Amino acid sequence: MATNTTRWTPDTCPSPGCTVEYTWDDAVPAVNRVHTFSRVVGTCTAHGTATGSALYTILLNENTRKNKAVVTTVAALPAVFPSDPTVTWAYDDKRNLSIVTGTAATALQQSTIQTALNTALGSGAVTVVSTATAVIGGNVKLG
Ligand SMILES: [Zn+2]
Repeated sequence: MATNTTRWTPDTCPSPGCTVEYTWDDAVPAVNRVHTFSRVVGTCTAHGTATGSALYTILLNENTRKNKAVVTTVAALPAVFPSDPTVTWAYDDKRNLSIVTGTAATALQQSTIQTALNTALGSGAVTVVSTATAVIGGNVKLG
């Protein structure tokens, strides 16, 4: 049994991103493992006022929301994202998350994705748009 420390810089912060450390016990099976906040190494411009475990909670929530939104988007509409699916996401300066469809999706398909995101993450958690002004964003390639 050993306590391990992991340094994490989530991909949902503008560069240079927030960096935090958390600890976990390698004697605990991965599925039951608990990550315990340890310390803040650095803070990005988007999260300048948050500190300590409150910052860690914000980072975790934003990163998890982005990951769930991407998976939900692909699951909702496989026809838009065929065998080589790539989903684009973006956080704006108010930390609102968007799924950016570009020209890949029709209005009806966007609506289908939005409904699935509302069901999976709650209304208002993620907005489906054609284009977005992003502070930070990325493409997630699945499959
Ligand atoms: Zn940050």
